[in-house]
Amino acid sequence: MPTDSETQYDPSLGRKFIFVTGGVMSGLGKGITAASVGRLLKNAGFEVTAVKIDPYLNVDAGTMNPFQHGEVYVLADGGEVDLDLGNYERFLGIEMSSDHNITTGKTYQHVIERERAGDYLGKTVQIIPHITDDIKRRVREVAEGTDVCIVEVGGTVGDIEGMPYLEALRQFAHEEDEEDILFTHVTLVPYSKNGEQKTKPTQHSVKEVRSIGLQPDVIVGRCEQPLEPATKEKIALFCDIPTDAVFSNPDVEDVYHVPLVVEDEGLDAYVLERLALEEEAIPADERENEWREVVTTDKSGEVDVALVGKYDLEDAYMSIHESLKHAGFELGVDANVRWVAADEMAEHHTERLRGADAVIVPGGFGMRGTEGKIEAATYARENDVPFLGLCLGFQMAVVEYARNVLGLEGAHSAEMDPETPHPVIDILPEQYEVEEMGGTMRLGEHTTVIEPETLAYELYGDTACVERHRHRYEVNPEYFDRFEGEPMAFSGTAGNRMEILELEDHPYFLGTQFHPEYSSRPGTPSPPFVGLLEAALDGRGEVAYDEEVTA
Ligand code: GLN
Repeated sequence: MPTDSETQYDPSLGRKFIFVTGGVMSGLGKGITAASVGRLLKNAGFEVTAVKIDPYLNVDAGTMNPFQHGEVYVLADGGEVDLDLGNYERFLGIEMSSDHNITTGKTYQHVIERERAGDYLGKTVQIIPHITDDIKRRVREVAEGTDVCIVEVGGTVGDIEGMPYLEALRQFAHEEDEEDILFTHVTLVPYSKNGEQKTKPTQHSVKEVRSIGLQPDVIVGRCEQPLEPATKEKIALFCDIPTDAVFSNPDVEDVYHVPLVVEDEGLDAYVLERLALEEEAIPADERENEWREVVTTDKSGEVDVALVGKYDLEDAYMSIHESLKHAGFELGVDANVRWVAADEMAEHHTERLRGADAVIVPGGFGMRGTEGKIEAATYARENDVPFLGLCLGFQMAVVEYARNVLGLEGAHSAEMDPETPHPVIDILPEQYEVEEMGGTMRLGEHTTVIEPETLAYELYGDTACVERHRHRYEVNPEYFDRFEGEPMAFSGTAGNRMEILELEDHPYFLGTQFHPEYSSRPGTPSPPFVGLLEAALDGRGEVAYDEEVTA
């Protein structure tokens, strides 16, 4: 098969690839397993990166419904990507670009554009070699300059959509040195009714992998309990790999413990040996232990956080949950998140919020649940409950204040109510023109200038912060003067864009137009989340907001 000149590679670069496929069913956490291996390699001194392949036709995750796919994760460069990239950034402590999320949409779009431009010189353009070449090129480009690149293929082996990727990886392995490639297959080992670990699903899925010409080097069995020696032997025998290449990934209480479990199993040692990296690796007893220290911090307290959102699905707000965990590691406290349906607030008013030590109103799009989010902001403001409004949550806090404190009746965001007499949240005038031509989202990292002597300054400890964005609407400049001298102040700005709001005489009331949750990491938690939990801890025990609440 002719090889596209674009995919010329140089084996002397010496970088290694770990391919990760999944069997039996999706949702096994193969991303977490892969990220955990990556973390351990990083601890061993290697530069590690990752690519997530999503075999769907969407070009990116920007248009995808969080209820089906979980949150849209936003990268520093503004890429709207699969939430697994969030896991890689959090586990590997790296910053990725949109190129780290390969989708069928991106690949086909690129190849078709090249075809239209005449780049293929009259050849028939085909999945093999043109799409597969494009896939290989993308993987190699991302790996450049690193020691190890993890390539995770989304979905399950056998899915029609995944076929071109598996074929590309097969070719890839053929082109590279054997010791530079490691195939890892993550599969499910369920229990039978009588408590036996069953290997048949694994056998079937490995058979499927082998039928497309791939042979796993390592098999990781996801199971409630660690795999028994007999289970490992059986898998090894039927799947044709050594018994010591079969590993368990049992259930753990916290995903951040997976690297610890994987290390105890010896998976990292096996990978280092198999990829011939042992000599270069930092000896096991000299590796950094920071991760273990952070994620096993003793917790001496608990706080209840109400998350007033649209979707009853943890994945839809994954980065928020993770940010609360990171803040919890820092403060030695567990944040128990309870979801409160924003669109049921009208019915139950704020009774669902009672007893919560803190309230978060997350980002979102569309009308549904906005009145509930506004009501949650009123409740937190009036009852001194620590509050964090993120993006749409920030905007709804502005609307709430405009309506209930500034007396601007019917105030709203123009996104939700185009006829509102007081569009306190609107598209900036200069955006209107572009907006009519299809719309632009403000995406990715932008700098916010922070006013000294404010809560925001105290939190960030600086006169600026750089955070990620994903929004279209802004505080309407026509209303800026209404906030002058008010307890609600904008303490962070970017030109004429209001980025952070806070409330005087309140234990903790903060809103951010940006999404701090995307840059929070274990060990370097996001300041607004640490502040929220600190305030929640301070407020515990003061039954400050019980009776007066209007139910
Ligand atoms: N829908 C709002 C906007 O576009 C908020 C977006 C968000 O919360 N991510 O401005």
